[in-house]
Amino acid sequence: MNRCTRTTLSLYLTLTMAVPAVPAPPQRPPLDQLKKEAVAEVDRLATFTQQMVDQVFSFAELGFQEYETSRYLTGVLEKNGFRVERGVAGMPTAWTATWGSGKPVIAFITDIDCIPLASQKPGVAYHAPMVEGAPGHGEGHNSGMAVNVTAAFVLKKLMEKHRIAGTLKLVPGVAEELVATKAFFVREGLFRDADIVLGSHVDNEFAVNYGQPVNNSGLVSVQYFFHGRTAHSAGAPWSGRSALDAVELMNAGWNYRREHLRTQHRSHYVITNGGEQPNVVPSEASVWYYFRELDYKRILELYELGNTMADAAAMMTDTTVNRRLVGSAWPNHFNKVVAETAQKNIEAVGMPQWSEADHTLARSLQKEISATVEGLKTKVTPLEAPRDPRGGGSDDVGDISWNAPMIYLRYPANIPNLPGHNWANAVAMATPIAHKGSTAGAKVMAMTALDFLLTPELVRQAWDYFRDLQTKEMKYAPFIAPSDQPPVEMNKEKMEKFAPQLKKFYYDPAKYKTYLEQLGIQYPTVRK
Ligand SMILES: [Zn+2]
Repeated sequence: MNRCTRTTLSLYLTLTMAVPAVPAPPQRPPLDQLKKEAVAEVDRLATFTQQMVDQVFSFAELGFQEYETSRYLTGVLEKNGFRVERGVAGMPTAWTATWGSGKPVIAFITDIDCIPLASQKPGVAYHAPMVEGAPGHGEGHNSGMAVNVTAAFVLKKLMEKHRIAGTLKLVPGVAEELVATKAFFVREGLFRDADIVLGSHVDNEFAVNYGQPVNNSGLVSVQYFFHGRTAHSAGAPWSGRSALDAVELMNAGWNYRREHLRTQHRSHYVITNGGEQPNVVPSEASVWYYFRELDYKRILELYELGNTMADAAAMMTDTTVNRRLVGSAWPNHFNKVVAETAQKNIEAVGMPQWSEADHTLARSLQKEISATVEGLKTKVTPLEAPRDPRGGGSDDVGDISWNAPMIYLRYPANIPNLPGHNWANAVAMATPIAHKGSTAGAKVMAMTALDFLLTPELVRQAWDYFRDLQTKEMKYAPFIAPSDQPPVEMNKEKMEKFAPQLKKFYYDPAKYKTYLEQLGIQYPTVRK
């Protein structure tokens, strides 16, 4: 078609195509009114939220093995009209669920994996494993999707009803406990189109913050594999080369060097393979290190120091070494504009109404583990200006937080003063404490999303903070190399061992109102 014909045709089409008469949209209620509607809808879904909390609790799956959990969550999302893509970023248990169209794109993220050795009967204020030695939700990640999915369903309903443009996108924090996925999600571009990222994480307070949290570090997680030569340990030890010696020398070297590192650094290791039996010189041994620091440059320096120690230990023992980056996390940095917006919603929602039974469970557990006995928190946490970070745990959402304006809503679904990564942290996680806290969290997530869906100026301000302050001098660069792949085989053997036993206890919401009811647990069960 030549240009003249094309122009004529397009003119013809423009003139002849009838523009259908668009009915004037009904007056959309003001934002405050929509938020009230959202709160009422979240309350209406309280049973759904409770069932999701209980269901995921009962699956108790370790990182990269969240097969039942992901099957269940994607099923629910698909049934409710979300477009699901499975196996994203090279991870069988990762997925995205999307609904809506156009801008803004609001992404929701929350973790789904559990903790080794944390199996625990819910509602029981002393150590009582569901399955001895099995993993369990001793971090409370079973409640996060209940928060995000409830909020997303409510938003979808309001967006349809009031013709609100925008896209909702849900992403699961697969294997967060291995800090092994978000850098790959970023590399895959899962957050490339996100205007705002709303993360949620279980806590005992109702809070949000901006900047780098005071108790947060970034990290690299790396395994060193030493290779030597077997020999009879007594008959011909001179013929052997001990890979275990290399591991021990590396650890000794690191522990001496520790004295001369900044106090903000944190590092720890476990020996994942120490040999077969004493009379065989170990030809294979391995050690797994976490190197944590407060910023990208210092984390890289620690990592390089670790590599030097490993090479030196190999040299001393005449062994060889190779390494594998298992996970990495940028230090978190949360967006001031998004945090201030969410804080107003936290204050509007307020803390859940705890019952005497909830407080009794909390106080009994605190007493049981010799923690400060104070029951549950009853006031929301005020928004504070960031303080100088001193270091602590890591979360690979840090990588996302350096790619789009993000917050991490901490909703009150657990008991204060617990050790973390422990059976005690699982006690409340399928009880009314977790149910009420998740409902409260879903309200804030839905309200905050509405703020950004309906106020383009707020989206712009969040990006101004992101571009002009947060990333002005510090630009994101991944710790992972282009050739690195997620270690999706991790935890496979452990899960294969425990899944058949855990399966007997999967929650059946068709038969039982709550998981406590299914297990026949009196709430709360406390020491007399
Ligand atoms: Zn977590």
